Amino acid sequence: MNAPPIELACPHCHAINRVPAARLADGPACGRCRGALFAGAPLALDAAAFERHASRSDLPLLVDFWAPWCGPCRVMAPAFEAAARELEPAMRLAKVDTDAEPALGTRFGIRSIPTLVLIRRGEELARQSGAMSATQIVQWARSHARLA
Ligand SMILES: [Zn+2]
Repeated sequence: MNAPPIELACPHCHAINRVPAARLADGPACGRCRGALFAGAPLALDAAAFERHASRSDLPLLVDFWAPWCGPCRVMAPAFEAAARELEPAMRLAKVDTDAEPALGTRFGIRSIPTLVLIRRGEELARQSGAMSATQIVQWARSHARLA
């Protein structure tokens, strides 16, 4: 077991950390800010932080594109939080408010919300529009990230 360390961005300060894959589940802390690298919850991303988590991290990033006025988005929010508890530390879950970050919504061609987009190293692996249950989110994300 000499797998190379994986790179992932801190959910608090967004610094890139290198962590041995075998230690991901041991509650690793950020080398810069000492915050937990996995908080068991989705994190809100602006455009700058998005780049670090989507392009400079080895972990698959599951993004919920949403907006505060969107009823189905609010319905799905607790399911997405529950999915984060199940999918971490194999995956990072994040939310992008398309009202606050319209450029990200445009870049990904988001036409309806909620839309989930699964990204790894800047490459889109899959997307799915419409609200889903926690179980559906977990199964969908695992199958497309080939973690199942
Ligand atoms: Zn940090």
